[in-house]
Amino acid sequence: MLVDSHCHLDFPDLSRRLTEIFERMRQNDVGCAVCIGVNLEDFPGVLALAEAHPNLYATVGVHPEYADVEEPDEARLIELARHPKVIAIGETGLDYHWQKDRPEWQRDRFRRHIRAAIVTGKPLVVHMRDSAEDTLRILKEEGAGVVGGVMHCFTETWEVARQALDLGFHISFSGILTFKNAIAIKEAAQKSPLERILVETDSPYLAPAPHRGKPNEPAFVRHVAEELAHLRGLSLEQVAEATTANFFNLFKHASRPIQP
Ligand SMILES: [Zn+2]
Ligand SMILES: [Zn+2]
Repeated sequence: MLVDSHCHLDFPDLSRRLTEIFERMRQNDVGCAVCIGVNLEDFPGVLALAEAHPNLYATVGVHPEYADVEEPDEARLIELARHPKVIAIGETGLDYHWQKDRPEWQRDRFRRHIRAAIVTGKPLVVHMRDSAEDTLRILKEEGAGVVGGVMHCFTETWEVARQALDLGFHISFSGILTFKNAIAIKEAAQKSPLERILVETDSPYLAPAPHRGKPNEPAFVRHVAEELAHLRGLSLEQVAEATTANFFNLFKHASRPIQP
């Protein structure tokens, strides 16, 4: 069984087609998926999915790309994270790709998420884009290693992966791993310890080869796992078994669904 550790099933591209999406998850042995929260306004929809489906989980957080949304304080995050189907805090982190001025509020918001994660004991889902140095520094300064988490949709070098691993974090690879020009990411996927790797789609974004350019969906996490198997000289079954075990080790509040 595979797990899609990061998707956005509440986004309209996907939420309109849930029946066929669930059917393709079954056909591809993708047993569960995590619906990732990106802001508080849309969180009820994310949670509703997790409440309605035993094999879906939710996370709560405000993504660093959202500037003009309700700003979460620690207490609010802690309160929302109490729900048993909320398995992590995030996605949170720093994204300097679009906000080249590196605004201070991104770092403040990130620190609040880390503090809430430590209080709740629920790990972090970290979004890091063009911001590796600050992201790692803040994780270190806030002592995020006690709760850990995942560097989601990893697009950095092995050196950055190594530092995140040293902090106690897991590394999650997305469909980008299947792209021919993703040389540094492939290297990180080869060198990271197998017991610290997760797989994800980040759907509806970033469809893997051979679906590149089309809307992505959780079933396609299988292509990420196949690429990982290829890069490490393992079978798909070995990668599925390892990454699924890693998922449930990290996200202790997620219970394994009963297989039909
Ligand atoms: Zn992200
Ligand atoms: Zn995401």
